[in-house]
Amino acid sequence: MAFSVDTPVQYVKGVGPKLGVLLKKKGIETLRDLLEFYPRAYEDRRAARSIASLKDGDFVGLQAEVARATAIPMGRTGRKIYDISIRDASGLIHCKFFRIPFRGYFDKFQPGMKVRVVGKVILYRNQLEFHHPELHEWTEEEVGGEDKDALLPIYSETEGLSSKKLQAIIRAALAALELPKNLSLDIEKNPDWLRKKYNLATYAESIYRIHVPEAGMGQSYLDRQTPFHRRLIFDEFFMLELILASRKKGMQDESAPPIPVHTAIETKFLKSLPFELTNAQKKVILEVQKDMALARPMNRLVQGDVGSGKTMVALITALSALANGHQVAMMAPTEILAQQHALNAEKFLKPLGIQVGFLSGQLRGKDKAQSLEDLASGKTQFIVGTHALIQDGVAFHNLGYVVVDEQHRFGVQQRSMLKGKGQESGLSPHFLLMTATPIPRSLAMTVYGDLDASIINELPKGRQAIVTRATYQSKRAQVLQFLQEQLQQGRQAYIVFPLVEESEKIDLKSATNEFEKLQNDLPKYRLGLLHGKMKAEDKDRIMESFRKHEIDVLVSTTVIEVGVDVPNANIMWVEHAERFGLSQLHQLRGRVGRGEYKSYCILMMGYAVSPEAQDRVRFLETTNDGFKVSEYDLEIRGPGEFLGVRQSGMPGFKMASLVRDLPILEEARQAAFELLDRDPKLAQKQHESLRALLQHSKKTLA
Ligand code: ADP
Ligand code: MG
Repeated sequence: MAFSVDTPVQYVKGVGPKLGVLLKKKGIETLRDLLEFYPRAYEDRRAARSIASLKDGDFVGLQAEVARATAIPMGRTGRKIYDISIRDASGLIHCKFFRIPFRGYFDKFQPGMKVRVVGKVILYRNQLEFHHPELHEWTEEEVGGEDKDALLPIYSETEGLSSKKLQAIIRAALAALELPKNLSLDIEKNPDWLRKKYNLATYAESIYRIHVPEAGMGQSYLDRQTPFHRRLIFDEFFMLELILASRKKGMQDESAPPIPVHTAIETKFLKSLPFELTNAQKKVILEVQKDMALARPMNRLVQGDVGSGKTMVALITALSALANGHQVAMMAPTEILAQQHALNAEKFLKPLGIQVGFLSGQLRGKDKAQSLEDLASGKTQFIVGTHALIQDGVAFHNLGYVVVDEQHRFGVQQRSMLKGKGQESGLSPHFLLMTATPIPRSLAMTVYGDLDASIINELPKGRQAIVTRATYQSKRAQVLQFLQEQLQQGRQAYIVFPLVEESEKIDLKSATNEFEKLQNDLPKYRLGLLHGKMKAEDKDRIMESFRKHEIDVLVSTTVIEVGVDVPNANIMWVEHAERFGLSQLHQLRGRVGRGEYKSYCILMMGYAVSPEAQDRVRFLETTNDGFKVSEYDLEIRGPGEFLGVRQSGMPGFKMASLVRDLPILEEARQAAFELLDRDPKLAQKQHESLRALLQHSKKTLA
């Protein structure tokens, strides 16, 4: 039969129905899926090492035999560390696993079994070890077999499907497709001009060489630096950038009301401010105003660390829209944050005679009807709200400018729903998206690649660096002591607990229990409890008391994560810091250091915390810079988790890494825009397969 990349994988020699099921579990259904199931690592057998020769940081492969396999319980958590020690003639080393790849994985490693291990050597507590290496049985035929000098691919295994088996069926698939010789358009999607200009290897050769490495190129395979890696990584980025480029070009065809700067109102406003704008704020305001003066919609992302004054930028740029007779909407992801914005807007805009409105899901009955009516009639000029703003039944009079705070918590669709609420038919409002989770450039180019970007890279004068300390439960008494000294001096503190995912009931119980415990520990002080299950009025009441300093210590689950602004609070104490993402911890830390007082962030870790998690938390001790934090966070967690589930339109890359492959990403982006400049509708014959692929990807990412 004639094979194509779309042929079901069952037709490959050696794949029966049983294997078909296992492959399907890995998402492999067609030959393309199979060929794009890339090796997880490579083993260079010519560079095999002895255990005694290992050094910290080496990425190596070696052959050894199992000495002992033990499961060590971690505290009372029920979790275990799996420790497999292996030895060769020169010495012994431990392979540690903090998670198991699949059930039953460890049972097969019995003392005396010959194994191969590939991984990075790390120095941990003065001892060299492997953490989560590739560990495979080394069968008798392999010991002296033909592969003994080869560079070999290693595939991630599941139960019943070994790396070796995968290698065999992938080789059969390559043969069936006649790779690497086959250069049909079915295989090669990229036109010749693009391959030439960007110096790309063919798909056929690349896919072949990824699975059947060239023995002489050991190190560049280990580093994923071969021309074959580059081509396949390029393809992954290219398709995404093509989607973003076409979206961006689509938006440039839309119309928006041009909004010129209204100098008089702006000058008046700036005079009323108790502070000078930072240079970064001034620069971003100009960038925004330049966009808004045009007859096509602005789509601009403002990134700025917590406390950099993004809200002020939004308010100032809103002035001109308001003065030109447009409504302005500001949307925030949580009730508390929306309320804070509303307070802020009233404080700054009311004196100028501007009507500020509020809309949230918690608004009911008469209040809600009134709010909606004022919005539709145009009486409300500046509206602050939550997701409620994009619901059916919300109508604007003439919406000209939309500000979305903490943009990363909203999806692309939610943005376009607000667009639909623009004014006179056919006109889109201008969009300003703000985020305090500074996003590394690579990620911004992928998720926000259809937006223009501004960065506020400066904090207002006089802000003090926050002192961050990671510590353990065993130091609780000292931390309490320190806390009391600060409270004694009139400061306030936050103590934050993680949400316990399994059940809301447990959650509530743990927050309440801890609250009682803390109250016993701090009998002289006024404590307040804030958690997600509370009624809105109760939350507001507690927040308000904390603002007024009727409460000294706010004990809370993460509902205070964003936006809360109480300058007198100077301690952020986070319990079980290891359970939070780094960017989230950085956000929490940003709640303090907002006033004149020296501020502290105390990251308390539980008893049984893996070394990786400890290192992660400790990273925050080394920097206050949100960009550094998010870059590190991205590196260790990957983009999916980094952004959270809500961010739609983010594909999982199979080979590309947003951290390692930034230069390739930049080229792919340039190529995507260039392609659409040459052939906006991809109508040319040579772009036919790209057009089909783009349509397919758009559907799956929508
Ligand atoms: P972000 O949203 O970027 O975290 P905010 O806009 O909430 O920051 O600003 C944090 C605090 O700093 C607010 O109280 C705000 O009024 C104040 N602020 C904003 N700009 C300046 C400035 N240029 N100088 C001093 N304080 C400022
Ligand atoms: Mg903010």
